[in-house]
Amino acid sequence: MAKLNDILKSITQKNPNEAEYHQAVEEVFESVLPLLKANKTFVDEKLFERICEPERVISFRVCWTDDKGRVQVNRGFRVQMNSALGPFKGGLRFHPSVNQSILKFLAFEQVFKNALTGLPLGAGKGGADFDPKGKSDGEVMRFCQAWMMEAFRHIGHFTDVPAGDIGVGEREIGYLFGAYKKLQNEFQGVLTGKGLDWGGSYLRPEATGYGLIHFAHFMLTEIDDNLGGKTCLVSGAGNVSQFAMEKLLQEGAKVVAFSDSTGFVHDPEGMSEEKLNYLKTVKNEERKSISAFADKYPSASFKASGNKNIWSIPADCAFPCATQNELDEKDAKTLQKNGLLLLAEGANMPCTPEAIDYFQKSKVLYGPGKASNAGGVAVSGLEMSQNRIGRYWAKVDLEKELRAIMKNIHEKCLETISRHGLSEQDYLNASNIGAFEKVAKAMRAQG
Ligand code: GLU
Repeated sequence: MAKLNDILKSITQKNPNEAEYHQAVEEVFESVLPLLKANKTFVDEKLFERICEPERVISFRVCWTDDKGRVQVNRGFRVQMNSALGPFKGGLRFHPSVNQSILKFLAFEQVFKNALTGLPLGAGKGGADFDPKGKSDGEVMRFCQAWMMEAFRHIGHFTDVPAGDIGVGEREIGYLFGAYKKLQNEFQGVLTGKGLDWGGSYLRPEATGYGLIHFAHFMLTEIDDNLGGKTCLVSGAGNVSQFAMEKLLQEGAKVVAFSDSTGFVHDPEGMSEEKLNYLKTVKNEERKSISAFADKYPSASFKASGNKNIWSIPADCAFPCATQNELDEKDAKTLQKNGLLLLAEGANMPCTPEAIDYFQKSKVLYGPGKASNAGGVAVSGLEMSQNRIGRYWAKVDLEKELRAIMKNIHEKCLETISRHGLSEQDYLNASNIGAFEKVAKAMRAQG
């Protein structure tokens, strides 16, 4: 036991000042500890240490010129975490908070998430400490071109396929793709999340949010329940959150609150299709605060207090879709005391370890992001397949495929629960153990 705990200690010591990365590694370590105890080969062959060490970390200078002609300097990254199951795959985040620790935690999570999809996908993550907020289209374009000027030599459709994440949507993917095509003189599926007319896939924009609600649906089916009539909170107002709300409406649920970095909106009458369309215009086209939503609809009120306070509103289901560590133990307690039945993560690592612990102990159904938000990268994997064969698949087929993948992930969790004797609906340990076994075996096989 002492020896096993030393594994975690040495990883933490080797990676100082990387709190988010430590948090993600510790969670998986705790889940796979019984597996390591039972399987001497995994320990002898240092499989946990190997999975924690990125295959390659690229950090680079990104210089670009703003609209006033001034030179700006940002830091760009690509963490190529693991290619045991396929080419490195994962999003790009453009946000001022981006640093190596945050990208390593995201890349690490991606290893397990991508393994759970059942598709041939390795894992990576990248981005820059660039803030697209308040920048003109021209500035964003010049930044994307400058980022790609360095990154293009490290990526490719069989090597590493980036996509979007916070701050990187179809506009940014377009500028990045255009730059790659010029630099490499090749039209290839090097990025996913592309526009539909130039190699993108139907359903990619919807995939993370829709997949999340499919997963919640399967979790509830397991206890003979469903989303119909359930009161829901969905934090965030970006891509994941918008399509999670859309699917919740289709399932007959009532979404009473959402948020963005300026505050949250509470609308006891609930979201409707028309209201959601207006929200999409505010966020995607006007790029304004959600306070505009409350100005338009009298039943809605806006509170300018940041993402977090959304969790004080009573609800049956909660879907954190904003960012890491947006929900802590205090929030978890408030939600549970207010009658929370289910929480499924649309964002990556939105709940603190203490919040997760509280949910697990108090028997709130908890869907970890690695499993519940895997729909996005799964449809990215399907976009890669379409690019390779030079075809577009029909939207209905992709819808069926996404649902089937989310069902499969859910079943894989249940299978892991029964094979390892975990407690009923322990999706946290099941997703960590199931994915670890798969990646570790592939790494062993490849020497
Ligand atoms: N950024 C998304 C995630 O966290 C999608 C990644 C992708 O499509 O490659 O899974």
